[in-house]
Amino acid sequence: MKNFSRKGANAQRKTQLLQSRFASSFAPLRLCARNILFVAIVLIASGVFIAPVLSSSPFYDLVILNGRVIDPESRTDAIRNLGISNGVIKTISTGKLSGRTVIDARDLVVSPGFIDLHQHGQDEENYRFKAMDGVTTALELEVGTGDVDAWYAQREQKSLINYGVSAGHLAARMAAMHEPITFLPTGDAARRPATDAEIEVMKQRLEDGLERGAVAVGFGIQYTPNASRWEILEMFRVAARYGASCHVHMRHAGGKEPGSSIQALEEVISAAAITGAPLHVVHIHSTGGPATPKLLQMIGEAKSRKLDVTTECYPYIAGMTDIKSAIFDEGWQEVFNIDYKDLQWAATGERLTKETFEKYRKTGGMVAVFSMTEEIVAAAIKSPLTMIASDGILERGKGHPRTAGTYSRVLGIYVRDKGTLTLMDALTRMTLMPALRLERRVPAMKNKGRIRVGADADLTIFDPRSITDKSTFQEPAQYSEGIRFVVVNGAMIVKEGRLESNVYPGRAVRAPFRPKTN
Ligand SMILES: [Zn+2]
Repeated sequence: MKNFSRKGANAQRKTQLLQSRFASSFAPLRLCARNILFVAIVLIASGVFIAPVLSSSPFYDLVILNGRVIDPESRTDAIRNLGISNGVIKTISTGKLSGRTVIDARDLVVSPGFIDLHQHGQDEENYRFKAMDGVTTALELEVGTGDVDAWYAQREQKSLINYGVSAGHLAARMAAMHEPITFLPTGDAARRPATDAEIEVMKQRLEDGLERGAVAVGFGIQYTPNASRWEILEMFRVAARYGASCHVHMRHAGGKEPGSSIQALEEVISAAAITGAPLHVVHIHSTGGPATPKLLQMIGEAKSRKLDVTTECYPYIAGMTDIKSAIFDEGWQEVFNIDYKDLQWAATGERLTKETFEKYRKTGGMVAVFSMTEEIVAAAIKSPLTMIASDGILERGKGHPRTAGTYSRVLGIYVRDKGTLTLMDALTRMTLMPALRLERRVPAMKNKGRIRVGADADLTIFDPRSITDKSTFQEPAQYSEGIRFVVVNGAMIVKEGRLESNVYPGRAVRAPFRPKTN
């Protein structure tokens, strides 16, 4: 099977040649209407099809032929051809299409590109792994940033895939407490309650970020355990004024009371109810552990009462975070119901002991936390409430396998091998649901996550029989297999399973903002 060919382009050139020959042979007759009518009658009478002579069919930048097009919005699951020009889907048809570049997608699924609402790694290294896992839009919404303009400026014209960021409460807190802004706080901002004046500074920082087009507001409450409930409410109030969703890593994990994940979910659902801010709970299963089904039930109930609450998960039994963070303060074993042996040091792959834990706790670094079971992961993935989001970050090839493998792993293991959910359901959680989550604040998201005429040509084309994640906790920097073509804003970034080089079609996903006057 040839997946990529210029055959279509050649055929089109021949058609055009033929048309111009026809046109020139009729040149002497072109003057009067009677003659045209005469020619038409003669041609029709002699069985010659007249349409190609008088009008040429459109010629697209890119056509994708014979693919199994799956669009969760229209629930389409059928063999279709797509015509793409200027980065936009122009036609979806069963008829013949021609274009400058042709992808033969026979036996492949053509899906809207995957939208990852939770991707921390936002550089070239990470984007390559995301692209090879089918992700066309990767957003850093949990931790976010303290400087929205600078964040977008760093990626402009240099990005393989689409990118976007939230205004982060963590960054606002570090700034308010005059700490250098790092990924996660480890000093005062991680540990002490804020004064009223500091809360005012945080509100102002979030407002500034939202004014500059931040997509959402991000929270890592477990990393700031002494942030008061009032402080969190004040941040939700700011988000509500801007119609921005709050992407929250909740205050507590596990099931032990007081301080359970159930209590933590009560906090943020009430914050959403009190303020009107939309709520998105990140990695429900790694926070909830065995309580995950109860948390999902609570979210379903809140939704049935018309609260705007959504959630997400990734398909792994371990999370990962900085060993220096407040998550590993006194009592973590009881919270997660795990011990040192359940922690794996990302840099070396070694499991920890009391001694190595204490050593690394001083230096800091990423550690995998094996706190979940396959049943918990399956319960989260199966729930119709859950989107797929990776929580990924790789640094020089080290990190969690979810960065590179999340989407292929869901499609390979949970759809094909285990049948936990259907292909349509899986793709809905990877495309349409994340787009819907953001489109109130970012109207441009109405043109993502769909295969529709007028939608952005962000597309992922994969082989459902062979799609597989290859990244592991030992070797996280492994490209997934089975993603055959990836298109971002009409440009091919993965071709026949390989990354294209020197292409940067990724664009900013950003809420509308006023251009700076100075
Ligand atoms: Zn988190």
